[in-house]
Amino acid sequence: MSNDLRSFHQHLISSRKVLAILGAGLSASSGLSTFRGAGGLWKKYDAVDLATPEAFELDPSLVWQFYSARRKAALAAVPHRGHKALAKFSERWGNRFLTLTQNVDGLSERACHPRDGIVHLHGDLFTLKCTNFNCRYKESGNFREPLTPALANASMDDNVGVERIPESQLPHCPQCNTLLRPGVVWFGESLPYDAIFRADEYISAGDVDLVLVVGTSATVWPAAGYIEEVAQRGGKVAVFNIDESTKWPDGWFFQGDSAEWLPKALEPVIGRV
Ligand SMILES: [Zn+2]
Repeated sequence: MSNDLRSFHQHLISSRKVLAILGAGLSASSGLSTFRGAGGLWKKYDAVDLATPEAFELDPSLVWQFYSARRKAALAAVPHRGHKALAKFSERWGNRFLTLTQNVDGLSERACHPRDGIVHLHGDLFTLKCTNFNCRYKESGNFREPLTPALANASMDDNVGVERIPESQLPHCPQCNTLLRPGVVWFGESLPYDAIFRADEYISAGDVDLVLVVGTSATVWPAAGYIEEVAQRGGKVAVFNIDESTKWPDGWFFQGDSAEWLPKALEPVIGRV
């Protein structure tokens, strides 16, 4: 794979459609740790204690404190020039560009990425969903902090303990008064149908000449499958990542900070950001 910006620029401006797949490495440049790298007191918990439907049923107080801490950490982080470059590219290219993100931190939204240009494969921290099977209440873009007064102390900090919060003091549905849950995809849950549908539709319609793979090794389904499909149809792959990742014979690899690389890579379309 090459790291030649000139040949990348030529391919970019002649591409009919572009796809981007975003992963945790993009947020890492904003100082946001990954789920696995969650700090402080949460280190001693296993993912099954915090991020499964069973965990929520067993101990909604614990799970809500974990997600409140993550919401707080995400809100404290600032979108960087890489997020802004992608947002601007989406603004310019409209329906010829689709971004699939594995990130739940809302940083792309806060960089003003157009909402209809981004698909959240794993949901996001700022969407709340009702747990009542018969109620379809869903609220997105809720950046209120704290969600309830009882969650005000939730933190990634080592010195803050987990509290026992009564269920009545956790977030509840304004329509049916059942417990709300974070709108993220938990382990053991399937990915949102509308997200998968949108991605499939965009790729299978053809003409995707370029995939930007940012901050992810993209070795897991469905991301790996999407890249494979585009490559099979003759599209090229450009990887932006700190780590060496999957090698695509026909494409580019820009190793390092995506906050630095993306503005340079997209400059012919978006100008300077
Ligand atoms: Zn409800």
